[in-house]
Amino acid sequence: GRVIFSGIQPTGIPHLGNYLGALSNWVKLQRNADPEDELFFSIVGWHALTLPQDPQELSASRMNMLATLLAIGIDPKRSVVFHQDDNQCHTELAWILSCVTPIGKLRRMTTWKSRLADSRNAGSDSEVDESLLNAGLFTYPILQAADIMAYRATHIPVGEDQTQHLELSRELANIFNRTFAARKRFFPIPTQVNTPSRRILSLRDPTSKMSKSSPDVQSRILLTDSTSKIKSKIQASVTDSILGVTYDPVNRPGTSNLLTILAACTDESPEEVASRYEGKSHRELKADTADAVEELLKGPREDFERIRNEKGYLTEIAKQGADRARERSSATLKEVRTMVGLS
Ligand code: ATP
Repeated sequence: GRVIFSGIQPTGIPHLGNYLGALSNWVKLQRNADPEDELFFSIVGWHALTLPQDPQELSASRMNMLATLLAIGIDPKRSVVFHQDDNQCHTELAWILSCVTPIGKLRRMTTWKSRLADSRNAGSDSEVDESLLNAGLFTYPILQAADIMAYRATHIPVGEDQTQHLELSRELANIFNRTFAARKRFFPIPTQVNTPSRRILSLRDPTSKMSKSSPDVQSRILLTDSTSKIKSKIQASVTDSILGVTYDPVNRPGTSNLLTILAACTDESPEEVASRYEGKSHRELKADTADAVEELLKGPREDFERIRNEKGYLTEIAKQGADRARERSSATLKEVRTMVGLS
């Protein structure tokens, strides 16, 4: 069987982009998994700390994300759902891996390079250096590798933006195996599972992605948005003044974004949906998209509101998940300690 691992940061209420681009794929994976497959879904609080967080908000987001996963259909009996920060095996393994990670590899990470570029642009007049950035931002790809390797995971469903990080995980698995594991392939070399990549764009600026960090709240639909909010945000979404509806992401990003959203809701391709709307107006497309999104989010929204008020239940699920995660990873770590000479 496969060992599938994926993680998501506990940052705010997920938006439609997070849901269609990432979380709904987890549910599909769970549904289509073979009985022998093991699934681990982790809420990765330690990764969230690489950026400044308000402690109270982070604590709330941590629970909200767990409630979200349950609300969208992750089944805690079938899958191991847990908070990364409840399982110290991740940090212990990350430390051990950091001792065999060449710094040059971390410097080549595009995520690091873009952080560096950002801090340069923020521009002090002093010569630019790394001193403004924290070490966690530099080393978190190692922690990601540890997240995966602690469960000796084989299959990692992530977006294309994570390809380089997964490549690092593969290298670290290889380095560890070569250096310490007499029994070759102690760590499996993880494979990227390419989930259908649907990029949902901002409703206000369809040249950029829908994102939680945009200051314009009208640009995104949250999993908790009411029926009327969904309607008004989609009705006010930026499209174009071209007559009729066609799927043309380059020239008609706003219109095409609505088609992408509607297609995701009805499990079709945007082109298929577009062919039904050729002679129709933006108004009709918007109305139908709003209805489809409402239909999609209604169940999860209601479940989310219910579950997030059941604090005792959430605490119990988190505890069970952490116990199951720890049970698996502590077996890995026991062997790792022996292999490196710390037993
Ligand atoms: P940010 O504001 O930093 O961009 P975000 O919540 O919009 O944050 P991430 O936290 O970077 O996005 O991503 C969480 C997951 O959701 C990732 O798997 C990412 O690929 C996916 N995702 C985020 N935004 C979108 C989007 N607009 N369309 C499709 N998938 C998305």
